[in-house]
Amino acid sequence: MLNVGVDIGGTKTVVGLVADDGTIVASHKVATPTHDGALIVEATVGAIERVMGQERPLAIGIGVAGLVDRSGAEVLFAPHLDFANFPLAQVVQQRTGLDCVLENDATATAWAEYRFGAGRDCRSIVAVTVGTGLGGGIILNGELIRGANGTAGEIGHIPWVRDGLPCACGSLGCLEQYVSGTSLTRKARTLVDEQRSTYLHKACEGNSQQLTGAMVTDGARAGDAQCLGLLNELGHELGAGLSAMVATVDPDIVVIGGGVSSAGELLLQPAREAFAARVIGAHYRELPPIVLAECGEDAAMIGAADLARGLTR
Ligand SMILES: [Zn+2]
Repeated sequence: MLNVGVDIGGTKTVVGLVADDGTIVASHKVATPTHDGALIVEATVGAIERVMGQERPLAIGIGVAGLVDRSGAEVLFAPHLDFANFPLAQVVQQRTGLDCVLENDATATAWAEYRFGAGRDCRSIVAVTVGTGLGGGIILNGELIRGANGTAGEIGHIPWVRDGLPCACGSLGCLEQYVSGTSLTRKARTLVDEQRSTYLHKACEGNSQQLTGAMVTDGARAGDAQCLGLLNELGHELGAGLSAMVATVDPDIVVIGGGVSSAGELLLQPAREAFAARVIGAHYRELPPIVLAECGEDAAMIGAADLARGLTR
C-alpha cells in the first residue's frame, strides 16, 4: 500500500508517494514559502495533489521543522516557518480527504532510520540530524518517544553554554548554536573576515557571506588544516552532546544524518573520541556505535509516510 510522506523544511518542501517498504514511488519538490503559513499549506497541498496521480494513497504523514503536539495534529511552534499552534493535520485533511498526522522532521528522520536505515536491526536508537540546525529523535525498545508534549529528543536545545549565543528557540547557548551547519559557516566566515584562511578566502572569492559548509568539507578533504580544525571542533562538540543523550536513554546505536554528515569520518571520528571521553561508564560498558544515516535526504519524508500507516491500521 502507498502513503504520502511530506517534509516541510526551512527552504524546501518534499512530497512523495512511499510504499510500505520505504521505497519512494514518486516525489515532487517545491520551495517552502516560509514567511506565510497559508502559502505553506497551499504549496504542500499542491505538491500532494501532484504526486497522488492515479494511485489513491491511504494517508498522509508530514514531517515539519518545528515542535508538534503529542497527538500529531498541531504545529506548536516553528521558529523558521510561519506556524504557531496551527492545526496543520486537520487543514490538510480537509483539503485532500485523506487522514493526516504530523511529526517533527528530525523525529520522522529517526523513525525512517529505525525502520529502514542504519538502525533497522536495533530496538533503541538515537538519531541526530546535523543540518542548518541540530535535530534529534529517540526510539526506545521499538517505541517512538514523543514525551508528554510531543517535544522529546530535542538535542539541539540542550542548554550547552551558560549565557551563550542566542538561539532561534528564544533561549541562550543551546547546543545547536555550536553543533550545526550554521555554526560551521559562522566560524568559517570569521576565519575569512580575519584573513586567517587562504583556502577558504579563495573558495568564497573573498566574500565570506558566500561561504558554505560544503566548502569547509571540501577543504578538509583536500587536507587544509584550518578546515580540518573546524570539522574536528564541530565533531568534538557533537560527541560531547551525544554523551548527554546516551547518558539519558542508553541506545543500541547512534545515527548521524543531515547535510553536515556528508563530511563522514571527518566529523564522526572526533565525535567518537569526545563521546568515549565523556560518556558515563565508558570503560565498564559497551559503547553504542556512532554511524552515518542511510536513508539520505528523503529520510524525514519516508519516516513521516511510515508513521501515517498508524492512522489506517
Ligand atoms: Zn534553542
